[in-house]
Amino acid sequence: MDKIRVRFAPSPTGFLHIGNARTALFNWLYAKSIGGTLVLRIEDTDQKRSTKEAVDMAINSLKWLGINWDEGPEVGGDLGPYFQSDRLDIYKKYTDILVEENKAYYCFCTSEELEKKSNMQKTLNQPIVYDGKCKSIPLEDAKKRMAAGEPARLRFNCPKNETAIFEDYVRGTVKKESHEVGDIVLCREDGFPTYNYAVVIDDMLMKITHVIRGEDHISNTSKQVLIYEAFNYPLPKFAHTSMILGSDKSKLSKRHGASTIMDFKDEGYLPQALRNFLALLGWTHPEAIENMRDDDMIKAFNLNRFSKSPAIFDMAKLRHFNAWHIRNTDLDEITKLFMPYLVEGKFLNSQPTEEEYAWAKKLVSVVRHNCVVLSDISKYVPVFFENDFTLTDEMKAIVEKEESKKLLLFIKEKIEAMNELEDASIKDMIKSAQKELGLKGPALYHPIRFALTGANEGSELSHVCELLGKENVLYRLSKLI
Ligand code: GLU
Repeated sequence: MDKIRVRFAPSPTGFLHIGNARTALFNWLYAKSIGGTLVLRIEDTDQKRSTKEAVDMAINSLKWLGINWDEGPEVGGDLGPYFQSDRLDIYKKYTDILVEENKAYYCFCTSEELEKKSNMQKTLNQPIVYDGKCKSIPLEDAKKRMAAGEPARLRFNCPKNETAIFEDYVRGTVKKESHEVGDIVLCREDGFPTYNYAVVIDDMLMKITHVIRGEDHISNTSKQVLIYEAFNYPLPKFAHTSMILGSDKSKLSKRHGASTIMDFKDEGYLPQALRNFLALLGWTHPEAIENMRDDDMIKAFNLNRFSKSPAIFDMAKLRHFNAWHIRNTDLDEITKLFMPYLVEGKFLNSQPTEEEYAWAKKLVSVVRHNCVVLSDISKYVPVFFENDFTLTDEMKAIVEKEESKKLLLFIKEKIEAMNELEDASIKDMIKSAQKELGLKGPALYHPIRFALTGANEGSELSHVCELLGKENVLYRLSKLI
């Protein structure tokens, strides 16, 4: 069997959104699952709308999302160039072949004329297809007219009475009659190829075996099938994944929380959580596993588990996955992801010493369980920095009780005798306070927590002590004794 080759082919006309990112991810997962090659191709033939910024944005978004490609911009490859705007000579060569074989012809109709005709077809409820007016112009005449400066489009000489058929992993057999496709435009008046034309030539020359993309392209595929046939080239296999809708079942938009990929980064989402979330928009794991690392997805991924019904974008689910990955990602890796937030809050130096980094790691190990997005960490750190907080009247009444004072004194003396504050020894110490002073439950824990943090709740006390360090713990206790 030939090597599996898939591609992700964004048009750089805006930001990378959820839908394109999901397409990229499915292609990446398929390539990884089967040892195939992922090609990144930039479809920038729409000169008016394509921008360099959008190319950079797409590349940076993919990189942040952790989707790497085997061939394409920055990495190169044998079947490039990978920007369509660098492939114009290639398209021209194939245009000459089609024209020579009378499978394409030049059209001189003006835009106004075409608009009038299509409006008429619309009114009559007919398919909007070109009426073939310029098909009879002899090639020699067409060439002369173009040489004299008359603008022309290249049109497909669509075969009559044929059915465009393709097999789709999601939709099964898809058919369309050729008269519904008609003589579509292959090259615009500026000479640039249209999407449907360039995509076929590129997929052909880049030896793409599987095309995985959104269902919005399914009607384009019938057109592409007829173009493949004009080149006598075998079709790739197709998988058109269902649309993504908002929670109210309407077209997905910003109001459903669907931002650009880089917005998710800025809001404190993890790339691995987003990958997990995106993978389940229209695909399911055979064992219905939901919390997945890359390995789980790659091992289980195949093209037979796409759903036909639309996927629903559920922000609550994304938050759930994010919290899960924050809790379950390797501690060093997650600490590094939290670091910018600690640095920004001035809780950590941007170049931390080994000791400072160890402290940050300890902090993350304790508070990550409370965080849904990375930025949540800033809610849980100030308590370790502000020694001079004030207690509420209720807290004061509790710590000033005779039994509480005794308890705090007991703790202070034990801590003074310790070299370093460690989880296990602090836990033992609290246990011995319980035994020796006969206190338990809130009578034991509340005075310590109030004295050390000024808050009603928070991380486990042994962790609080570890993170505060001996000096701060003693300072906070002394204030109340
Ligand atoms: N450039 C097209 C898009 O961004 C690619 C479609 C395709 O994958 O063929 O929608």
